[in-house]
Amino acid sequence: MTSDELVQTCKDHSFYSWSVQQDVKPLPVERAERIYLYTPDGEKIIDFNSGSMCINLGHGHQGVINAIQKQAQELAYAAPGTATAARARTSKLLAEVVPGDINTFFFTLSGAEANENAIRMARLFTGRQKIIARYRSYHGATNLCMQLTGDPRRWANEPGTPGVVRVMDPNPYDYSFGTTEEEITANNLKYLEEVIMYEGGHTIAAMIIETVTGTNGILAPPKGYLEGLRKLLDKHGILLICDEVMAGFGRTGKMFAFEHGDIVPDLVSMAKGLTSAYMPLGAVGMRDHIAKFFEDKPYWGGLTYNSHPMGLAAAEAAIKALIDEDLIGNSARLGVLMTELMADLKAKHPCVKATRNIGLFGMVDLQKNSRGDRLAPYNGTHPAQGEFAAALRSRGLATFMRWGSFMCNPPLCITEEELRHCFAILDESLSVVDAHMED
Ligand code: PMP
Repeated sequence: MTSDELVQTCKDHSFYSWSVQQDVKPLPVERAERIYLYTPDGEKIIDFNSGSMCINLGHGHQGVINAIQKQAQELAYAAPGTATAARARTSKLLAEVVPGDINTFFFTLSGAEANENAIRMARLFTGRQKIIARYRSYHGATNLCMQLTGDPRRWANEPGTPGVVRVMDPNPYDYSFGTTEEEITANNLKYLEEVIMYEGGHTIAAMIIETVTGTNGILAPPKGYLEGLRKLLDKHGILLICDEVMAGFGRTGKMFAFEHGDIVPDLVSMAKGLTSAYMPLGAVGMRDHIAKFFEDKPYWGGLTYNSHPMGLAAAEAAIKALIDEDLIGNSARLGVLMTELMADLKAKHPCVKATRNIGLFGMVDLQKNSRGDRLAPYNGTHPAQGEFAAALRSRGLATFMRWGSFMCNPPLCITEEELRHCFAILDESLSVVDAHMED
């Protein structure tokens, strides 16, 4: 099939997520290698968002492909109640790789299922029902995860399941909670403590955070936030769940984003980078005290594809490759360069409002005037966005764009030269947006 035929047939017979079907313009992808996607018509496009912020290793990694092929030959599926070599090896590897006393893992198929099970565990463990989540967040598309989610994808899914209390995150970038990071942390935690008082701390099972907020802004926690939050929640016996579905597995320059703080969450959810998306797999990691609780009590949750050997084989190979190829180090090192290249963009282009990154997890916010009004409003769009995307595509780069901001999340195997090339493309293409400046 040609690129056009592929697009049309997919549109005729398959249903796209989060979309008005007639408006969907899917990117035709035939094959992919490292940071590059190839269309059936031979176009070569840099995947500057790592698929859906997930193919951390890069495309076409032979080691992972071999592991999947070997597992398919050996044992493609085993029931949840079995003990398999893939399950033994991968859970043991995770116990070594995940910091602190997080030594037990429940395997799911997706990030949403990981969060669903983390919440279920927290409720069973504490005997409480309520969950605190933050507005600038996305936690998945199942019924409960939609309510944990703060962003507008929740709206059409309301009222959904009850029991979720949403709070403001500390957002260090617009200084709504203070002018220094320390002040922002202190004020946000003071506000949170008041919310806990009104809700009744004894009714709250857990608080779930994206350790570094992903789609809703690439927002790293301000100084002292993780430690202060951990302390505050401990005071009330509220569990801390870190959603590391997007931020985990090297994206931020550490294996897990919570390692940027001096904390260990009670529960950690993961997916995406767990297998670098080579197979659908999610997991909940739990600390020893949670695992111990379920030693003599039943766990009321399961999946047909729990601990699926194919997913586990992919995870084992993907995690080992991340470590062996020092891609987490690469993310940290090139993250420093990305900060510089972003600053160059801001210095050169009036349309660049703000930039930020942590490791190879980055975002650029665009503005439509020198007063700093965002190019597109919350949940809105602007014609310049489409023109910018087309300019990027004509130069061979694709990325995710939303509400006047665009993502800089390349696969972690990207080289310095390739990263500089990506920013040269961004630089050339941003003049399209500059032309839309209203003053
Ligand atoms: N949590 C976060 C932080 C995510 O980014 C996502 C997916 N974008 C999810 C949960 C849900 O994961 P999945 O789509 O695999 O259910």
